[in-house]
Amino acid sequence: MLLAPEAEQLLVEGLEELLRRRLLQRDDIERLLTLWSRYSGKCPKCGTVVEAGAQFCQKCGIELTK
Ligand SMILES: [Zn+2]
Repeated sequence: MLLAPEAEQLLVEGLEELLRRRLLQRDDIERLLTLWSRYSGKCPKCGTVVEAGAQFCQKCGIELTK
């Protein structure tokens, strides 16, 4: 499991590129980011470390489980 900040940055950039090319829908991206947050323990939006099983980010309020 790569948890380095660089890996996270690459992941987000890669997903945004796929979105730009319309290979993925926005919903798909959000699902993937949600999965990522579960693995990494971080909010996919703001990067705040969230508790395992948390439903919402404590900082930005984004929903983490769907
Ligand atoms: Zn957040």
